[in-house]
Amino acid sequence: MRILQVSAEIFPLLKTGGLADIAGALPAALNAGGCDVRVLLPGFPAIRAGLEGSSSVGTFRTAWGETVELLYGHLPALARDGLQQGAYVLVAPGLYDRPGNPYEDANKQAYADNHRRFAALGLAAAHLAHGLDTMWRAQLVHSHDWHAGLTSAYLAFWPDLEAPKVPSVFTVHNLAYQGVFGPEYFSDLGLPGKAFSVQGMEFHGQLSFMKAGLYYSDHITTVSPTYAREIQGHEQGCGLDGLLRHRQQNLTGILNAVDDTVWNPGTDRAIAHNFDTRRMAGKAQSKSELQLEVGLAQDAEAPLFAVVSRLTEQKGLPLVLAAMDEIVTRGGQLLVLGSGETWLEQAFVKQAHARPDRIAVRLGYDETFAHRIFAGSDVTLVPSRFEPCGLTQMYGLKYGSLPLVRRVGGLADTVVDTDLETLEDRTATGFVFEALDETQYRRAVRRAFALYHRRAEWNRVRQTGMRLAFDWPTAAQHYIHLYDQLIRTT
Ligand code: ADP
Repeated sequence: MRILQVSAEIFPLLKTGGLADIAGALPAALNAGGCDVRVLLPGFPAIRAGLEGSSSVGTFRTAWGETVELLYGHLPALARDGLQQGAYVLVAPGLYDRPGNPYEDANKQAYADNHRRFAALGLAAAHLAHGLDTMWRAQLVHSHDWHAGLTSAYLAFWPDLEAPKVPSVFTVHNLAYQGVFGPEYFSDLGLPGKAFSVQGMEFHGQLSFMKAGLYYSDHITTVSPTYAREIQGHEQGCGLDGLLRHRQQNLTGILNAVDDTVWNPGTDRAIAHNFDTRRMAGKAQSKSELQLEVGLAQDAEAPLFAVVSRLTEQKGLPLVLAAMDEIVTRGGQLLVLGSGETWLEQAFVKQAHARPDRIAVRLGYDETFAHRIFAGSDVTLVPSRFEPCGLTQMYGLKYGSLPLVRRVGGLADTVVDTDLETLEDRTATGFVFEALDETQYRRAVRRAFALYHRRAEWNRVRQTGMRLAFDWPTAAQHYIHLYDQLIRTT
């Protein structure tokens, strides 16, 4: 099957969150499963820099009159087992030649022309599905998140009515980010007038790229079974729950997986002391060195809680701030790595200044430091308000840092709370609380301390978590099955 994957980010070239990890790992897993996958990406500087051996496959024109060129080459950073990853990259310097974050400027303001930047991405995908590259034509297009949401609209309204229909899959990584723009930009999209209606991409008088993806794709997936259910309800539906309920026969939750070549404490080159379930000494060494690195007291007995996250309300971080004392007064330590909303950044920094031996905060984005944190910490905190899948709790599990999470979205699907029963059946892997409520969060922290003081049981829970697979071959099979069905029935 020839599959075109469309996304705005891809690990390791450009990443702002979990989307990039999945966009980076899924193609290799699909290729290993027998697919022929090529990726399509905007020509951001980091992506252009990672593209090798490229040549032009053609150009197309946007509705606002810009000519966009498509290059085809390969991305050595994504090569696996000697197999190169083919990639199409859009060249439109006026749209993409901006360093740093792909969506916003240095002042954290969304770029004013984002509708054009990502409409061009969707349009390029539709062109590739309809023969722009005479050497390779996609049989199915799989697009990710709102940035690629217009792909399925362009496919649905492809002007050549004789052209064979190309099925589309749209994956929601986070329904809260919708790509909503003013109606005055509709003419830039070059879609027929009927696309701007309730039966289309119109959303409260605005244009919604997310809604276009949900409405026009043949099948919708999201990144965990629980989130697939939650987004059909009012609380997590972000105003799109009605449409999602309507499309529930074409909506599937496929749990994300962990890329073992990147996230494996036994082989990870980002950590100095590798470890696995049979050789745990490296875990203790990693903790001691991490404490030293960030200026925390080098205390093997102090449970080290960690946050590696975008600093946003979504991640439930106000709870961590409000209940910091629960960790500190019990003799624990907290390390935060993140960047995001200024008020959260400042609040964490203030706490760290007050208790430098117990609380450390590093603002910014640092991929290899994140690996050292999972390796050196005891507990990974993910008390999210909502969480489509969440990767950090899975990384925590793999690296023996027990996740403490709220029972929501993918967190509910990946972490088993520790209680007497789950200890007895050896299924416990972490700490789970229900409501987004300080008391419940505090009680979960207390349970983490209680288990930490029962070392034999702690170690057993940790071993259970480290053995979980979350493997890509299994996740890829779900996608392959879906593609196969869609290609056969379209
Ligand atoms: P989301 O996609 O909502 O941000 P996920 O848990 O799905 O959340 O994925 C987050 C990814 O980003 C993980 O790979 C995590 O390790 C990484 N990450 C988040 N913040 C940082 C940071 N400040 N530095 C390094 N990696 C980070």
